[in-house]
Amino acid sequence: MLIEKEKCTGCGVCSNICPINCIDMVSDNEGFLYPSIYLNNCTNCGRCEKTCPVINGIKNENNPQPPAYAAWSLDEDIRLNSTSGGIFSELAKKIISDGGYVAGAIYNAKHLVEHCIIDDNDGIILLRQSKYVQSSSGNIYKEVKEILNKDKSVMFVGTPCQCAGLVGFLGKSYDNLLLCDFICRGVNSPKAYTKYLESMEDEYNSPIKKVWFKNKINGWNKFCTKIEFENGKEYYADRYTDLFMVGFLKYNLYMRTSCSNCSFKGFPRNSDITLADFWGVSLRDKTQDTDKGTSLVLINSPKGNDFLESIYERIFQEESSLSMAVQKNPCAFESPDIGDMRKFFFDTVEELGFKETIEIIKLKK
Ligand SMILES: Cc1cc2nc3c(=O)[nH]c(=O)nc-3n(C[C@H](O)[C@H](O)[C@H](O)COP(=O)(O)OP(=O)(O)OC[C@H]3O[C@@H](n4cnc5c(N)ncnc54)[C@H](O)[C@@H]3O)c2cc1C
Repeated sequence: MLIEKEKCTGCGVCSNICPINCIDMVSDNEGFLYPSIYLNNCTNCGRCEKTCPVINGIKNENNPQPPAYAAWSLDEDIRLNSTSGGIFSELAKKIISDGGYVAGAIYNAKHLVEHCIIDDNDGIILLRQSKYVQSSSGNIYKEVKEILNKDKSVMFVGTPCQCAGLVGFLGKSYDNLLLCDFICRGVNSPKAYTKYLESMEDEYNSPIKKVWFKNKINGWNKFCTKIEFENGKEYYADRYTDLFMVGFLKYNLYMRTSCSNCSFKGFPRNSDITLADFWGVSLRDKTQDTDKGTSLVLINSPKGNDFLESIYERIFQEESSLSMAVQKNPCAFESPDIGDMRKFFFDTVEELGFKETIEIIKLKK
């Protein structure tokens, strides 16, 4: 390890930068990826340490008081199928229509999350929606750099730590890169998530086809988890009853340890644009408050502003004050604490399974 384990975000930039590929990202017993260095091969070139965003911090000249907007896509289908207001998809559509590429998080065949690069509108559908489990970065930083060096445009979307990783990896600014992060509560353990999916498959006696967090069937504010099964059955539950959301939002059982002390909160941000849910939004025209999802869009750089202007005709937008915009979004500045039942969760989940472990925790709390 380059740094104390509890500080490592798992961004994977050290593994991408190593010139002789002697750093692998390996799962620990909680299912989170950490760098494993083959010391016999290591030449001590120091590039991993010089690039690690946690060790070096990231300095930028972005706006410490970014303009804030409430916004959503005017395309009802995009808005309803996105987590907040669908601004990610509108930005991605613009990049693709101009011949560029978008890097973001998709579900793989095992329903786990990984970063990949897409170059068409079908790909946008795969990237769309928040996936509340840590995304594996793979070789994404190398792949993005390769495309940027061919003078093609790339929009990179990821957690603030992944964006910091990319900035460190590139080592210089690129005019053809649009960097987009989001206000992030923290990322959850792939192992906990797999255990949750297994318990749902057992209960519904079928493999899972699709998971959809914050589905809007009952409105954006309801945080409904929807799961579609191969046997045609469907599961819906709100944040108070879906056990994965209960473990995430109420008890903080399986968030990555570094997320409880995140170095990438507050302002200025590394990204050109920060997206979030605009909780507590209060629009001038109250009839516009329809619970279909409103994005908070923070414009951190002139490039971010140019991009927002370029999708002007496809979105609703209304300026807000920054203080109003983040008032109901504490994760803009603060890291959540690790829950006191976290150790119990990981000690128990293997033997008792996800559902029973959470039910015991509910009784103990
Ligand atoms: C783990 C996580 C925690 C979040 N915490 C908050 C919060 O505390 N407050 C808040 O206001 N908003 C939070 N968000 C952001 C919010 O849920 C929306 O994603 C954001 O408002 C953009 O919405 P959208 O409708 O424009 O796009 P969406 O369609 O939601 O687009 C999602 C974009 O995020 C990327 N993405 C999805 N999952 C991941 C992942 N696991 N890792 C990296 N990138 C991913 C996708 O590639 C896509 O580009 C969080 C998102 C995630 C993934």
